[in-house]
Amino acid sequence: DMEVAIKVVVVGNGAVGKSSMIQRYCKGIFTKDYKKTIGVDFLERQIAVNGEDVRLLLWDTAGQEEFDAITKAYYRGAQACVLVFSTTDRESFQSIQTWKEKVEAEVGDVPTVLVQNKIDLLEETVIKNEEAEALAKRLKLRFYRASVKEDLNVTEVFRYLADKYLQR
Ligand code: GDP
Ligand code: MG
Repeated sequence: DMEVAIKVVVVGNGAVGKSSMIQRYCKGIFTKDYKKTIGVDFLERQIAVNGEDVRLLLWDTAGQEEFDAITKAYYRGAQACVLVFSTTDRESFQSIQTWKEKVEAEVGDVPTVLVQNKIDLLEETVIKNEEAEALAKRLKLRFYRASVKEDLNVTEVFRYLADKYLQR
């Protein structure tokens, strides 16, 4: 059996929870003051999809989201993408299309998913459900509401991408 490894980039504005999501998924932990990747480019997790072993390599942009040259290097060779915005940050929602275009410009059309993180903070939401759903529809993306903090829908996001990748 050939082993499948998928490079996944997790993309979005600063502070939406990208690093937390990668930590949660690969290490099973959530820390409130997690700031930077700790000297590594990616973390990985192995899962089985239809009896096939798949290694997901999750790349983090280390808090340098604003530097195009750096993010471009991270996107290179990406085979799947998670676009993340936060329930409490309207600007992060409005930036999604731009992030999608940046990734597409580097790697073309790869399996991609849209994630609204911090759904545990729904009382503080600045994004209407209909708006988020309309965006997903317009961009033709599967949409998940997630809470990295409460461990809601995180594994589902990556399982969906692995499935989608294997079906391509
Ligand atoms: P990044 O800049 O996108 O990598 O964001 P971080 O992973 O550094 O997270 C930014 C802040 O949001 C941190 O204080 C996290 O603890 C917090 N955070 C991440 N995910 C969640 C979540 O699902 N709910 C809540 N309430 N806070 C979260
Ligand atoms: Mg980060």
